[in-house]
Amino acid sequence: MKADTQAKPTKLDGQPGRDFDFDVVVIGAGFAGIYMLYRLRGMGLSARLYEAGDGVGGTWYWNRYPGAACDVASLEYSYSFSEELQQEWKWSHRYAKQPEILAYINHVTDRFDLRRDMQFKTRMTSTVFAEGKRRWQIATDCGDRVSAQFCVMATGCLSAPKPIEYPGPESFKGNVYHTAYWPHERVDFSGQRVGVVGTGSSGIQCIPLIAEEAAHLHVFQRTPNFSVPARNCPMDPDYERSIKANYAELRRRERESDFGFMLVEPNTKSTFEVTPEERQREYEHRWEAGGLSYYTSFVDLMVNREANETVAEFVRTKIREKVRDPALAELLCPKGYPFGAKRVCTDTNYYETFNRDNVTLVDLRKSPIKKFTAKGLQVGDTEYELDSVVFATGFDAMTGALLNIDIRGRGGRLLKQKWAEGPRTYLGLMTEGFPNLFITTGPGSPSVLYNMVLGNEQHVDWIANCIEHLRKQDRAAIEPAVEAEQAWGEHVNEVANQTLFPLADSWYLGANVPGKPRVILPYLGGFRAYSQKCNEVVSKGYEGFALTAR
Ligand code: NAP
Repeated sequence: MKADTQAKPTKLDGQPGRDFDFDVVVIGAGFAGIYMLYRLRGMGLSARLYEAGDGVGGTWYWNRYPGAACDVASLEYSYSFSEELQQEWKWSHRYAKQPEILAYINHVTDRFDLRRDMQFKTRMTSTVFAEGKRRWQIATDCGDRVSAQFCVMATGCLSAPKPIEYPGPESFKGNVYHTAYWPHERVDFSGQRVGVVGTGSSGIQCIPLIAEEAAHLHVFQRTPNFSVPARNCPMDPDYERSIKANYAELRRRERESDFGFMLVEPNTKSTFEVTPEERQREYEHRWEAGGLSYYTSFVDLMVNREANETVAEFVRTKIREKVRDPALAELLCPKGYPFGAKRVCTDTNYYETFNRDNVTLVDLRKSPIKKFTAKGLQVGDTEYELDSVVFATGFDAMTGALLNIDIRGRGGRLLKQKWAEGPRTYLGLMTEGFPNLFITTGPGSPSVLYNMVLGNEQHVDWIANCIEHLRKQDRAAIEPAVEAEQAWGEHVNEVANQTLFPLADSWYLGANVPGKPRVILPYLGGFRAYSQKCNEVVSKGYEGFALTAR
């Protein structure tokens, strides 16, 4: 099995564990963790960031597969907290590819001299709240014991890859890869028979590139996804200048929007308010513009099934135009669930790839994969002989990374037990019974449905301001009240039930992980309403939270 061995955490050989004391411990060196450290530094607090990988980047450190790129425009998918930073950094493309995003994150880390408070190749294994001391006692896999007043779990929403779900990978003589822990060195598929399992965003990005290199590519598809053209292109310097001349205004508009990307203007009309011709023009305009702007084509697309069907059928028509074999085109057409209820993918030549002679689509709906064999994969009665298998099968999203850690709050209560029926949080920021443990873009916040960099900034600012408030007020701890948490959970569900999201078996609902409770994970009420609520809670003296005297 090939994987990122360089990045596996190692124990400090033969050395006894060390003891540390910090005001704050931050877990994870992705966008959230890095900015958190920056804020804590500015507040004069002692902090250490622990990271399992051997470098910064989080998602962008691990997901190095061919074609990995962001589908939110780089000028938007970047930090806004420093005007100097956003002015000085130059993006080469409309959508940055993984190496460039990783270079950017490294640049930010060094520009603000944050690396000296980071410890890499170190995974938090447990964190236990010591009630007497009101401190978190943290253990790491390198043996360190760390005590901190606050823990910030910047562990990411899509950072716990799903394990391979088929028996016998050890019997397979070829190579096995997962898009979410790709080797650091280039993988050369030339002359190989390759299988890719999974056709979500990761699969859809890597399939066209692997097809160009491999002797033959088998794509194992369980559910077809809606994918729209990315239309990535080199950055136009005039365009970049025009954005940068008015960056603050763009950021303001992003923060006042629901999704956090504004470069293709959201439409304020509803689907059937316009003529069929106008509707078609709107969809064509967005098809030509490229990217994820379909979510904002009409205001009712995600709440009205009939409206949604108009955009779904538009995309299916495009697929039928692109794929020469009509039967194959039908297999690639998503049906039976609403457009956008599973995360829409963006692609470069994905559907066109199926016109190649060296690409075969295997429909797992007809026969699922049974097992690995020594030579490849067994699907129904057919054995597919392969040299390499790539799993692009996704993540235990939004809760996986947290629940993989032994987190115990007041009274030794295990987070995994508390969340056995699904996560319970107040605003996605904290959970009752776990004082001073903050989560960035946690379940119950807009998180993955908003521009992740800006969403993380908002959470980090909220957390930093909260910690400052506690210190100024001489309070030792904060945690949500049960009633507030319950009311927020009910609100999150109520909002979700007014949308089309529950109609798909998506990772938004945990439906992609066998045995995971089916519960809506992100907050669907939009970022604008959410951030207003967060501000309101603060202005009412942290309404819904209990603050404990020192
Ligand atoms: P994903 O969207 O969950 O897709 C996983 C794919 O694997 C699905 O097609 C799924 O089929 C299939 N699958 C899962 N388990 C399987 C099994 N046991 N057998 C066969 N097929 C199986 O995961 P992802 O593609 O890694 O993307 C996750 C998220 O990361 C995205 O939705 C997006 O938010 C983010 N992402 C973004 C970008 C970008 O910015 N362009 C790129 C990559 C990822 P089913 O649908 O039937 O479960």
